Amino acid sequence: MKITHADTIAAVATPPGEGAIAVIRISGPDAFDIGDRVLRLRRPLSSFSGHTLHHGTIIGADGQEVDEVLATVFRAPRSYTGENIVEISCHGGLFVTNAVLHAVLSAGARRADPGEFTKRAYLNGKMDLSRAEAVASLISSKSARAHRVSLEQLRGRLAGTVDEIRTGLKSLCALLEIDLDFSEEGISVIGKGDIERRITETKERLERLVDTFRTGKIYRDGVSVVIVGPPNAGKSSLFNALLKDCRAIVTPIPGTTRDYLEESLILEGILFRVIDTAGIRISEDPVESEGIARALRYLETADVVLAVDEAGADIGQREARIDSLPVRRDQQLILVRNKIDITPGASEKVVKTIRGETTRIEVWLSALSGSGVHALANLLVRIVTESELSTHESVCVISERHAESLQRGARSLGIALNSLRSGMTNEFVAFDIRESVSALGEVTGEITSEDILNSIFGEFCIGK
Ligand code: GDP
Repeated sequence: MKITHADTIAAVATPPGEGAIAVIRISGPDAFDIGDRVLRLRRPLSSFSGHTLHHGTIIGADGQEVDEVLATVFRAPRSYTGENIVEISCHGGLFVTNAVLHAVLSAGARRADPGEFTKRAYLNGKMDLSRAEAVASLISSKSARAHRVSLEQLRGRLAGTVDEIRTGLKSLCALLEIDLDFSEEGISVIGKGDIERRITETKERLERLVDTFRTGKIYRDGVSVVIVGPPNAGKSSLFNALLKDCRAIVTPIPGTTRDYLEESLILEGILFRVIDTAGIRISEDPVESEGIARALRYLETADVVLAVDEAGADIGQREARIDSLPVRRDQQLILVRNKIDITPGASEKVVKTIRGETTRIEVWLSALSGSGVHALANLLVRIVTESELSTHESVCVISERHAESLQRGARSLGIALNSLRSGMTNEFVAFDIRESVSALGEVTGEITSEDILNSIFGEFCIGK
């Protein structure tokens, strides 16, 4: 798909604030002309070859010199957007950057919308939609794992896999259609068993891909670890110990209320969002019972629940507290036995016991002395990496939109299988396979609507 855009867009591509340099990007058919209007160079920009760098001076809309800059020339189609691009590297700083942008806009460029450069790259066939989306997730990556899966998507891993599956389904459709043409003559091109096997295998492959989204989401958004337990069990102390012991990169998450604390912690490249519910007290008081509801809400969204209790607490009461915790099967419960330093006979350890179908994990530690806290941190990492190991696909889905399209693709194949097994003609089976092909096409953007595009690129930052 090659789309020519009539206008030329410009934006600051670097974050606002003071820095050594800032980059103003101009893209479109008039990029060189607009660049020439604002830049004093030894030759016009259009006379330079692509991928070259030139020293010059920016002249403001009022005719005054603004800054000494370097201009990089990219010639269509060998550029990020596929159009002519001029990137002006000026001195960083709000005033200079704005003055350069102002000069460029006054010279005829239009201010770019969020993500418009990447949208143009997609529309000009420079990258498929899944790779364009990977640009946004790469930029917003907060941990090494999030960065790695975004980069793999940017390199086309997901697009390649989805294309391969689509091609297989399309060729199956073609076989079914040929088979239909020959059926009147009593000739069979493909056996029913073969069709069933191919659809089943593809459906299972799609389902495995959809399953990787849980890991992908964990990498992208972080693992939510919620600390619960009775008052004075040492929840806040454990929260602080975890953050301190791991020498974490601690960043406050904006917009959170102060009835609980949330901090980010990066362990072996994985982002954990640790939530201390210590501020929420469970009480008969109607005002505080709102607090209970809130604590339960946090518990509901948890990937890992740390249920803290004193190692020396009464066993009966402790077990009753654990039983009353509404923890789901897909959540990992870790029982933390705290205060081993004042519990006779207790020592730092991780104990796994299998009770029927469930495995109980207990970590004995002292939040105060720090003993055992590191073992808990290691356990948290293992929980994530072991769940990742259950994924045999090498590609990881990180976008909800992709997971949803793949899921629809798998569902259509399920319908195709039902049709096949209930003796419907190949025409019906082929129809559902085509539905699947079109759902998968949404991942790479082969099939898409303007609404989808606007919502995807609207999420981008300006200048990207
Ligand atoms: P929370 O109400 O569950 O958040 O409990 P806190 O973290 O505020 O701790 C309650 C009290 O227990 C404080 O006085 C802590 O210093 C103390 N405490 C917490 N952890 C330990 C521990 O491992 N050993 C000892 N001896 N005291 C602890």
